[in-house]
Amino acid sequence: GALRRILDIKGSIRVFCRIRPFLLAEKRRGSEPVSAGSERIWMKFGGRKKDFEFDKVFCQEASQGYVFVEVEPILRSAMDGHNVCVFAYGQTGTGKTFTMDGSNEQPGIIPRALEELFRQSSVDNSSSFTFSMSMLEVYMGNLRDLLAPRLCNKAYEPMSKCNLNIQTDPKGFIEVEGLSEVPISDYAKARWWYNKGKRFRSTSWTNVNEASSRSHCLTRINIFRHGDGLEARREVSRLWMVDLGGSERLLKTGAKGLTMDEGRAINLSLSALADVIAALKRKRCHVPYRNSKLTQILKDSLGDGSKVLMLVHISPSEEDICETICSLNFAKRAR
Ligand code: ADP
Ligand code: MG
Repeated sequence: GALRRILDIKGSIRVFCRIRPFLLAEKRRGSEPVSAGSERIWMKFGGRKKDFEFDKVFCQEASQGYVFVEVEPILRSAMDGHNVCVFAYGQTGTGKTFTMDGSNEQPGIIPRALEELFRQSSVDNSSSFTFSMSMLEVYMGNLRDLLAPRLCNKAYEPMSKCNLNIQTDPKGFIEVEGLSEVPISDYAKARWWYNKGKRFRSTSWTNVNEASSRSHCLTRINIFRHGDGLEARREVSRLWMVDLGGSERLLKTGAKGLTMDEGRAINLSLSALADVIAALKRKRCHVPYRNSKLTQILKDSLGDGSKVLMLVHISPSEEDICETICSLNFAKRAR
């Protein structure tokens, strides 16, 4: 209630942090490098202790349901007419896909959001809603439609067939030329299309992990609100849910099998995103959207009147400490 409203006024960009639980294979030492408060992370390294502030921190034990409770207000904003972007950021293996997609037993934000949108639209008496969905992948500056597999080869070659263009319409809306947009009339339909997009994404790569560390996966829900009465206005807002490519610094870590070019492309687009968020946060008049495909696509959903939620994922393990510090510094910049 009231607290939600205060949070809403507080700002349009919020940054949460989620710490992944230890995996079975990870070595645990006596003292762990990361500890969490409800809005703060403490890092121990090289005899020093550093702290980072967040709008919310999810500790290792936080359930998918608990995370969703905190994300839900932003969905309400999307239903109220704001454009919304939810990002999962972090090094590969820190739980981005777990948070956004999850598993059958522990569904993540996207399936829960789909369910919640239909639930909210069924209880809202003042307006009626319809929804449509698009899914696309951004890989090395190329865009690929995940809901139209037949248009495209299974593999990324030849690239040109998958390379959709980005255009701005006279009202300032961004359109990805030729991107499929499917109407979703209920939750079952939405899940069907979402699963189809996911399946296509993973079958087009030799392995799924590789796919997610080298590309950004964007799911877009268009929300149409139809007022009743004669001059029924139709308003559109967009909800983007984005599973970003892995943020690891490839040159330093020599990360697992990524090529230099792929690594560079991901790092460039992530820093372009950070630059855009930093400029918006500081209310600069020049916002450098043009530096990457990712920020061009999201341009109309990042600026004025939009709400951004950045979910920064970190590993609890000593081995990942350098990447963890990088991610926390990224978060600091966005906040
Ligand atoms: P990413 O998408 O960032 O590369 P994943 O989502 O694939 O990372 O997570 C890596 C592994 O850790 C997966 O096996 C996933 O199930 C597990 N995992 C991540 N976060 C959690 C969590 N909060 N609870 C339980 N398991 C998790
Ligand atoms: Mg992933």
